[in-house]
Amino acid sequence: MTITKNYHTHTWRCKHASQDVSAYCQAAVDCGLTVLGISDHTALPDNRWSHIRMDIDELPLYCGVEDQAARDFPQLTVLKSAECEYADEYDSFFRDELLGELEFDYLVGAAHFFPMDGEWIGSYGGADTLRSLKAYANYFIKSMESGLFAFMAHPDLFGNSYLSWDENTIAASHDLFTAAAELNVPLEINGYGLRKPKIDTPAGRRCMYPWLPFWEMAADYKVTYIVNSDAHHPKDVNANLEEAASIGQQYALTMADLSYLELA
Ligand SMILES: [Zn+2]
Ligand SMILES: [Zn+2]
Repeated sequence: MTITKNYHTHTWRCKHASQDVSAYCQAAVDCGLTVLGISDHTALPDNRWSHIRMDIDELPLYCGVEDQAARDFPQLTVLKSAECEYADEYDSFFRDELLGELEFDYLVGAAHFFPMDGEWIGSYGGADTLRSLKAYANYFIKSMESGLFAFMAHPDLFGNSYLSWDENTIAASHDLFTAAAELNVPLEINGYGLRKPKIDTPAGRRCMYPWLPFWEMAADYKVTYIVNSDAHHPKDVNANLEEAASIGQQYALTMADLSYLELA
């Protein structure tokens, strides 16, 4: 299956990606993509987690280069987006400022952090117990319930720290899939996870994510999936899209159609 759309990319502004919007657009044109969503880690009004995102002052310029790229690459549909961690205190910023005033085409939800016992826990390394797995799933569901997100990035990110597929991952995934189906929020099979170093687990070496038993289980629910490269460098603008799609196909999952985003 040839995939010509990628809705998840980053720029130098997040401090762990390279180059700017125009380089991603050129790379997208060169490899035959038709739709490119630029979805850098969102700025936040209080500059929380600033080590992996732009500062709030950088937001106007980020919007500027995205709008400029849309004009410079008429052969490509360039969509303006951001990858966001949901929190009640950011709701109106996401809704009224990003989607409203600044006319973002869509937002990506992601759980790089999740709240537990009044503290934010990093999902890398932090989703390693039954309690934290539950907290991750509850936060993920709350993010979907906000209605803000066109899709949710790497729902199986917890696989980086919860090493064994067991009754706890099944219970958490059940809750997550049930909510995703009910709310009709597509879930992403993330290409970046396929490029990252593998981890050793009791069941053998595997990707941190995508975690195959998670996607196998998804087939029992009315969920849809989307594939993205989550590129952090222009050379990865279309990386692993087919491989990610083959996971969806392997379990006969339904691919979501996000073409409505292009009409906005
Ligand atoms: Zn990133
Ligand atoms: Zn990302």
